[in-house]
Amino acid sequence: MPTFRAPRGTRDLLPPERAVFGRLEAVARDLSRRYGYREMETPLFEQAAVFERGIGEMTDVIEKELFRLVPRSEEGEVWALRPEATAGIVRGYVQHGMHTWPQPVKVSLIGPMFRYDRPQAGRYRQFWQWDVEAIGDPGPAIDAELIELGARFYREAGLDDVLLLLNSIGDTECRPAYVAELAAYFREHAVQLPDLERRRLETNPLRLLDSKDPSLAALQARAPRIVDRLCPACAEHFGAVRSHLDTLGIAYRLEPALVRGLDYYTRTAFEYYREGAEGQQQALGGGGRYDGLVQLLGGQPTPGIGFALGLDRVALNLQSSGLAEGQRPPLAVIVGAEPAATAERLKLATALRAEGLPVRADLSRRKLGRQLEGAARDGAHFAVIVAEGSENGALQLKDLQAGTQRPLAAVDLARELRRAESSHRHG
Ligand code: AMP
Repeated sequence: MPTFRAPRGTRDLLPPERAVFGRLEAVARDLSRRYGYREMETPLFEQAAVFERGIGEMTDVIEKELFRLVPRSEEGEVWALRPEATAGIVRGYVQHGMHTWPQPVKVSLIGPMFRYDRPQAGRYRQFWQWDVEAIGDPGPAIDAELIELGARFYREAGLDDVLLLLNSIGDTECRPAYVAELAAYFREHAVQLPDLERRRLETNPLRLLDSKDPSLAALQARAPRIVDRLCPACAEHFGAVRSHLDTLGIAYRLEPALVRGLDYYTRTAFEYYREGAEGQQQALGGGGRYDGLVQLLGGQPTPGIGFALGLDRVALNLQSSGLAEGQRPPLAVIVGAEPAATAERLKLATALRAEGLPVRADLSRRKLGRQLEGAARDGAHFAVIVAEGSENGALQLKDLQAGTQRPLAAVDLARELRRAESSHRHG
């Protein structure tokens, strides 16, 4: 047993897994660029009130999962690690007067989030999200644009069987009456409710709809549905979101029980699941409209919509589908006939790297044969052999894939490798 381990619910991303994350980040960044979202960063911690007020005190994320930081000074502020990105971004929108920028403000963020959750497969205390927000547009067209963007991310990441679940959860006009009706319905059946759900009934009855407790399934199926209770404005908005999605050819399944865990959502709500996994707590991502959030955090009334896609679960799914990619081998390994001449090999590699080429120098003091074995094991295309006493720059270029070898002057090496690299890349 090692003395120290990464904290429970966190994990190290070792290079093979970090490479998968890197590829997902590259897909996300490229999509952000194509769709006109610009990256921003917020602090990893905020005043706890940003999350409490924004997300809602009666939600799991705040009640059970918020990582609060104990203040060390007299500054008196209570901070918390960010459990999601939207509240911090919207705090930034208000703080920096972004309502004076051209609207909507379209931003994205990639980074770690923290929730003090019970750790299990695909559920961590530190996990990564790609977050996308469009603030200042009431929709419905932008809702469809954003939902399509999320769906495209999974396809471009290599997951082809992702299902979109869609709902509208109304707004301040129609939701309060619906929530009261829902609470009354569950109260009638209170004896059938497990303790936790009975408590939720009094604090946040919507949560009973997406509770995964199997004893609730029958009650949930017969519960009143928000889609049948939308006010005319919300119904029209929802209809228009759907027709925009139809126009884009985006398939979705209506899911009346999809309410999302956070208080700030209004109207459009959506989640992405791997096909066949939609009944489980394994959403790949989700989002929704939050027309009240900017005001809740001290700004002018401003509509907004966004999503957060969890990168960990996509990476896990790619790994289990064998779609994860391995390490990139170096183009060449610099080896030498004189085991002790490490400075010479390092100097040559340094010069090639300065030219932009991915090469490794063998810095061991092994015999040449061993160095060549190492280069082959790395999967390198070439071994560059520095001959004994080769002050005049005479080298041997060994093509490890073709099994050929020829002499080469040092001055020609970078050009030769670059040519091989580009024909390799394009060929
Ligand atoms: P949420 O804001 O809770 O809907 O989260 C959006 C996405 O982030 C989810 O669909 C997951 O993919 C991911 N996610 C949320 N919580 C966790 C967690 N504890 N561990 C790993 N991924 C998570």
